[in-house]
Amino acid sequence: MRRCSGYVLLILCLAACGTKTVGLTGQAVVDVGLQRLIAADGEPGNWFTAGRDLNQTYHSPLTQIHAGNAGELGFAWQLDTDTVNGLEATPLMIDGVLYTSGPWGVVYAVDARNGTELWRYNPQVAGKYGRRACCDIVNRGVAARHGKVYVGALDGRLIALDAKTGEPVWEVDTVVDPERMLTITGAPYIAKDVVVIGNSGAEFNARGYFTAYDLDTGALRWRFFTVPGDPSLPFEHEELEAAAETWDPNSLWEVGGGGTVWDGMAYDAELNLLYVGTGNATPYLRKFRSPAGGDNLYLASILAINPDTGRLIWHYQTVPGENWDYAATQKMILADLTIDGRSRKVLMQAPKNGFFYVLDRVTGELLSAEPFVPVNWASHVDPQTGRPVETGQGEYFDEPKLIFPSQIGGHNWQPMAFNPATGLVYIPAMEAPMIFLNLVRGEFKYSPNRMNVGGVGVFPDLDNPDKKSRFAGAPVPPLSGLTAGQPDPAMHGFLRAWDPVKQAVAWEINTSGPWEGEFPAIWNGGGVLTTAGNLVIQGYATGELNVYTADTGSLLHSIDVGSSIMAAPMTYTVDGEQYVAVMAGYGGAVGLGFFPEGSAANQYGNSGRIVAFKLGGRPVPKRPPLVHDHVIPKPPEQNVSRKTKGQGAFLFAINCARCHQNNGPGVIPDLRYMSAETHAEFNAIVIEGTRATRGMAAFADVLTDEQADAIHAHLIGLAQRAWKKQQAAGE
Ligand code: CA
Repeated sequence: MRRCSGYVLLILCLAACGTKTVGLTGQAVVDVGLQRLIAADGEPGNWFTAGRDLNQTYHSPLTQIHAGNAGELGFAWQLDTDTVNGLEATPLMIDGVLYTSGPWGVVYAVDARNGTELWRYNPQVAGKYGRRACCDIVNRGVAARHGKVYVGALDGRLIALDAKTGEPVWEVDTVVDPERMLTITGAPYIAKDVVVIGNSGAEFNARGYFTAYDLDTGALRWRFFTVPGDPSLPFEHEELEAAAETWDPNSLWEVGGGGTVWDGMAYDAELNLLYVGTGNATPYLRKFRSPAGGDNLYLASILAINPDTGRLIWHYQTVPGENWDYAATQKMILADLTIDGRSRKVLMQAPKNGFFYVLDRVTGELLSAEPFVPVNWASHVDPQTGRPVETGQGEYFDEPKLIFPSQIGGHNWQPMAFNPATGLVYIPAMEAPMIFLNLVRGEFKYSPNRMNVGGVGVFPDLDNPDKKSRFAGAPVPPLSGLTAGQPDPAMHGFLRAWDPVKQAVAWEINTSGPWEGEFPAIWNGGGVLTTAGNLVIQGYATGELNVYTADTGSLLHSIDVGSSIMAAPMTYTVDGEQYVAVMAGYGGAVGLGFFPEGSAANQYGNSGRIVAFKLGGRPVPKRPPLVHDHVIPKPPEQNVSRKTKGQGAFLFAINCARCHQNNGPGVIPDLRYMSAETHAEFNAIVIEGTRATRGMAAFADVLTDEQADAIHAHLIGLAQRAWKKQQAAGE
């Protein structure tokens, strides 16, 4: 009773007093209502939602730019975002104004004709939240309706802004438990007359939920928890009773369970159904989480919700008993497909687990599922039961295993696109395995302010297949001992044109760039745009924006942008002229740690920008190339035991390595390059948080001064090794 009444009180409080009206200003300029959205194809010059329309296709009916003239596409304008982190959002364009977002939840309104900034809103998120983001402090975009623009700030606030002025109209705190490591990185989504937002934090201790708020006032309408709380307490809503049957009553409830909602949502206005993708489990290893087994609903699922009531209409779980960080949060596309001679209303998703799903979106029935990348955790999805058939190769509780796809997934947040003319879905696909390890010795111990995954995947060292290594103290066996009978572990990125009816590749482009076989290859290809001009457009970490024919994948044009691109481009018309626009900035789960050599971020830095293109445009102005001095300052001398350094290595792995990869320049500094000044301030930075405004939050809650010293000793050891190598090379 205790905890539930706590939630109830909090919910009542949010509904009653959490809605702060900060002065309703100005006229509604973004007068987008549901009817206008339903008829979006009738005004193809606009781009109303992240994926343009209600179907979330990332497809535009515009044809002014087409396969015959795309070679003339060039620079039109740009706007600096003043950011150095990843940019993942696709701008909206409504009646001549672009609306988009960047790190922390900063929102930009931009004149679509020339890139002039109309307003910028900064939610002023406290630096301490930087530590709560697993995979960069990104923001995946905004939603707009009736004169307001909605954004989720990293600290968990949902904010409605006046579209004309950028002034907040209302804001609510969506976080039910401030003690937990929750953030928002996803975009809000509007279904009928509510704005819905979930959150991130499954790697830490989140119990997933999503909440619907009144568009006009921010009043709480309903909240849906994606996993049960402690079943000895009352359920918050009826769906959790059924879900609890699929969990061991002795599950690790205090860890939260995961199932966060941080990306894909879609809304079918005719069916009045909101579709929501849910995330991975916490901890990853199911034998710790729910020792007696069970499907653990509603992890890694697609949920169909009535937006009026918040009640579940149907669910489809992509990964029963989720065990590998295989979130099903990826974006979902709604389409009508003819399957076996019958027109079906389908929902398509390519989640992290490697299977491409076609579901009947009226009922949730599985129509088909086939692997779009190498998969070895399951042999297939049984068409009768709708369940994946596990092979056993995915079970890494007792011994490390080479598992396909990696924890990054066969496909991640990078939007895929659907072109109704070709009938193809264009997937930024990632082919890679990881060596999955159980990191827990003995009993699982919950750490409230840390990651609680229990296991982890590490990318194999393909250059040294016989080398043993360690991660957070756990031995990583040599790759050569794990590959027998498994797919080739070399890593590749593909732009894969997928026929969703045949469940087969129609054409594909290898997008590995200079990293063929190595892990940066999977993070080269960004999100995808397709158009009725028979075009597919995709940006790359290497800094190009490429234009292909949608039917055959022929390269029509490659624009050297000089900035790493991850986000999906969009297209619009203003004053009768068609533009393509994209946000450019590297980061995210893979790009956060370092900028690989060959990336534009490495060559020109990672200052973010929005870049627009049009026919007859100029070459893109590039920033001056960075001069990498690559000089490691002489590290301090030290005389510490091997044991201390070993302890430091372990503490570094569990507290710091998620961001600091120490591979070279990146969003996050390589700590081998610490200056004498930084060395001197080390404990103040780590313990007191003297650089919190830059995202390096205080760790006083999880580390003692002595432990910070041990981490420092480990890093000095790394720096000394690299420095000696540098001296030997005579640099
Ligand atoms: Ca995850």
